[in-house]
Amino acid sequence: MIRLENVYKSYAKGQYALKGVSLEIERGEFVFLIGPSGSGKSTMLRLLLREDTADQGSVWVAGKDLAKIPSWKVPYFRRNIGSIFQDFRLLPNKTAYENVAFALEVIGKSRKVAEKQVPQILELVGLADKMHRLPHELSGGEQQRVAIARAFINRPLILLADEPTGNLDPETAWGVMRLLERINRTGTAVVMATHDVGIVDQMRRRVIEMDSGCIARDQVRGVYGLGV
Ligand code: ADP
Ligand code: ADP
Repeated sequence: MIRLENVYKSYAKGQYALKGVSLEIERGEFVFLIGPSGSGKSTMLRLLLREDTADQGSVWVAGKDLAKIPSWKVPYFRRNIGSIFQDFRLLPNKTAYENVAFALEVIGKSRKVAEKQVPQILELVGLADKMHRLPHELSGGEQQRVAIARAFINRPLILLADEPTGNLDPETAWGVMRLLERINRTGTAVVMATHDVGIVDQMRRRVIEMDSGCIARDQVRGVYGLGV
């Protein structure tokens, strides 16, 4: 599903945000990406989303070599991928319903399809009763659940999450994690960058630890019964 081969990425001469990273993530996996600030986590997620390209090495996502996707095809490629962020990134002047419906509109789905699917997915994330609220009328946890609904409505193969619980209190954060687990159980691979040690320890999923642009540790555990 995801394969990086000896990937280098540099923003400034002689300084590498990623320094020879190789890894593979299978369909349906749940992977935490940890490591100190500046270790390369966001850079990796940006490469996977094709927001940026590698200087050296190759990045394969959903069967595509990302270096070979022409820019006009990038939006089509991104249909395979949902993404959520620490700061939610909802459209501030659109309601929860409209934010989610927009993700269907941009891929050409009809209003009828939206009328059927958007309430269903907002129900799934527990926001059926708040679908006509604007983002500023929702709590942080509720805004993140709208963002998750928007990321998931097209049933992506992969969900990328950059510090999705970073702005949430612990209890709200666990609500978000339970949703990500449910999404993962439908077969969507989840890759989540986080600083939250408590969540990483309790979930017992694969952990890839970054340090200075390199993989310092790649540990499969939990359901596989390894690394305990
Ligand atoms: P996070 O650790 O939450 O993923 P960011 O990706 O926003 O944080 O930033 C990580 C580091 O990269 C920070 O030290 C930040 O200053 C630096 N950084 C991010 N974007 C830029 C940029 N456009 N120019 C220079 N430095 C940047
Ligand atoms: P993390 O997400 O682990 O905090 P990043 O991938 O954001 O790490 O950053 C890795 C390194 O690349 C850091 O040294 C950071 O300052 C640098 N960096 C990240 N984004 C940019 C950017 N857009 N311009 C310049 N430097 C950047």
